[in-house]
Amino acid sequence: MIRDPARLQLLVADIRAFVRDRWHPVEDDVERADEVPPAVVDELRRKGYFGWSIPEAYGGLGLTTEELVTCAFELSQASVALRARVGTNTGIGSEALVADGTDEQKSRWLPRMASGELTGCLALTEPNAGSEATNIQTTASREGDAYVLDGKKCFITNAPIADVFTVIARTEPGSKGSSGLSAFIVERGTPGLRTGQPYRKMGQGGSPVSDVHFDNCRVPAANLIGGREGVGFQTVMKVLNKQRLHLAALCTGPAIRMLDLAMAHTSRRTQFGQAVSNFQLVQALIADSRTEIFAARSMILEAARARDRGEDVALMASMCKYFASEMCGRVADRCVQMFGGCGYVADFSSIERYYRDVRLFRLYEGTSQIHQLNIAKLTLRDHAKAAT
Ligand SMILES: Cc1cc2nc3c(=O)[nH]c(=O)nc-3n(C[C@H](O)[C@H](O)[C@H](O)COP(=O)(O)OP(=O)(O)OC[C@H]3O[C@@H](n4cnc5c(N)ncnc54)[C@H](O)[C@@H]3O)c2cc1C
Repeated sequence: MIRDPARLQLLVADIRAFVRDRWHPVEDDVERADEVPPAVVDELRRKGYFGWSIPEAYGGLGLTTEELVTCAFELSQASVALRARVGTNTGIGSEALVADGTDEQKSRWLPRMASGELTGCLALTEPNAGSEATNIQTTASREGDAYVLDGKKCFITNAPIADVFTVIARTEPGSKGSSGLSAFIVERGTPGLRTGQPYRKMGQGGSPVSDVHFDNCRVPAANLIGGREGVGFQTVMKVLNKQRLHLAALCTGPAIRMLDLAMAHTSRRTQFGQAVSNFQLVQALIADSRTEIFAARSMILEAARARDRGEDVALMASMCKYFASEMCGRVADRCVQMFGGCGYVADFSSIERYYRDVRLFRLYEGTSQIHQLNIAKLTLRDHAKAAT
């Protein structure tokens, strides 16, 4: 749903200009320095980009899902690390509070996340809870007016710079799977919370990811999201069903940018006396990429509209994330091909960086295999329902 098309058009134009004028020139520096420049972060704060998905009542823009994915198509047409700097606040880092927080919890944290004063993150994954996300071993034991958290999270985006952690922990001793899990907000500075050194990664230099350790970490009971124990996994699924659409859009922007770069290169580069873009085998790579980008964009918009209508989008979100992330990988590969040797050499093009950066999309927020299983499971369920 688009509430005010003229206003959205202005925002999209602003994002497009910002990405082109402020982000494209610093992409290589971000990877080299392994950091998004503080001046760029300040600009993001001033522009209100950290608050896109946070309700207006709490200082954000309160974008609908369709508006959010439309903006994400634009924002992600640059180095992945740049959009990842705001991405946890406009997604997994704030959404548990938005979906299930009490009014008091929302008032306490969301306005400062919307302004970018606080950076959020979601700490779900653990060494033994990856694809099997419910196999959580971090515990939260009630002691008076607090919960004591013990355990370890791994692979947490923005953990090294986060101020606020949404943490999923087991509150019911001996429980298994998704029951007995609860969601908490833990603030940096809480004794017993420690983040590890940022990992060395294949790509996305400038987007810090690390472990998070809880060692006898006392968290006020008031930080239990929604004030209810045992519903943490339901909260996470609400977060992910929205975030998978958002992420699908964030996979589409890089594909658009890579194809743009490949267009420029193949039009400029001559072999056999003509631009290589004239060769029909190169044109097949262009056509397949353009078609797949259009398909991803269309399905994401359709699913976003369904979510805005209040429909259950679990199946659509899974299909969008699966298709868009795989599509982006295929486009990256074709674009390296279109650049020839220059596509492999970092000194000669940024396609090599994109190729590495976008590889993550097929792994996080559910690997492609987990989405295939989910899509099949939900399709079989629908089939069985229709047959009865
Ligand atoms: C850079 C980075 C950032 C991340 N950011 C976050 C974050 O902010 N917050 C967070 O909580 N997590 C985050 N993650 C974690 C991410 O979501 C997990 O890595 C992902 O869910 C996969 O889990 P795993 O790595 O344990 O792989 P595994 O579960 O060990 O999977 C290994 C392989 O087995 C396959 N596999 C597993 N189970 C099945 C099955 N049943 N059927 C078929 N195939 C299967 C998988 O598809 C994969 O190919 C991040 C990860 C990375 C690398």
